[in-house]
Amino acid sequence: MLLEVEGLQVNYGHIEAIRGISFSVEAGTVTSLVGANGAGKTTTLKTLSGLRKVRGGTVKFDGEDITHLPPYERVKRGISQSPEGRGCFPGMTVLENLDMGAFLRKDRKSKDYRDDLDRVFTLFPRLKEREKQAAGSMSGGEQQMLAIGRALMARPRLVLLDEPSMGLAPKLIQQIFTIITEINQQGTTVLLVEQNAAQALKRSNTAHILETGEIVRTGTGAELSADPAVKAAYLGGDI
Ligand code: ATP
Repeated sequence: MLLEVEGLQVNYGHIEAIRGISFSVEAGTVTSLVGANGAGKTTTLKTLSGLRKVRGGTVKFDGEDITHLPPYERVKRGISQSPEGRGCFPGMTVLENLDMGAFLRKDRKSKDYRDDLDRVFTLFPRLKEREKQAAGSMSGGEQQMLAIGRALMARPRLVLLDEPSMGLAPKLIQQIFTIITEINQQGTTVLLVEQNAAQALKRSNTAHILETGEIVRTGTGAELSADPAVKAAYLGGDI
């Protein structure tokens, strides 16, 4: 397993946001955490990135206990996150934002770096067209693409995507999910957090349903899509 989460607990003061969840992510797969507002999805990803302290439990990455490592040490090991919302540096250009994603790499003059930039521009041709434009002047969808592109510039083994479809028009949502599948097919393991359950389940090898800080169901994307309780609560019969 690339990522193993065991009994994870995270609090905000007295609020138990994550109540002892366990799940794992197999290398090469797309795994998703699906849940409503406030279920604890963002908190889980932030904790995996090292931005929130754990109250209990362990996180292992490629067999190593990383529970208490600071964020940059996790990036070095191959975990990078595209944050919820846009999360770009608005005053910097597209290219400068992408470069920030690679800030821990020592090979920024190398062919590998240029290859990764090409990979991002091939996935998101719109970013190439706008490479000198200030990120803050781009549309929501373009900024979402930039946030994902920036996460890829760290050349991660595991990319954490927090609500990549949030606030996007239906056509763009479809496009973003197609790109997520492509990223995975190129060899990057994906952990996806989504409120858009229909799309996330369709694209996931494994999915977990998160409700008020607990995993209440786990299965393949297809199994959960067919589960009557999941359908009723998350799919509105529309898959
Ligand atoms: P959303 O889709 O709305 O972002 P989520 O599933 O990502 O929801 P979280 O943002 O992880 O949920 O929130 C989980 C719980 O923790 C919620 O009850 C929320 O109110 C609480 N919470 C989140 N951030 C904070 C904070 N900074 N201070 C206090 N409570 C917080």
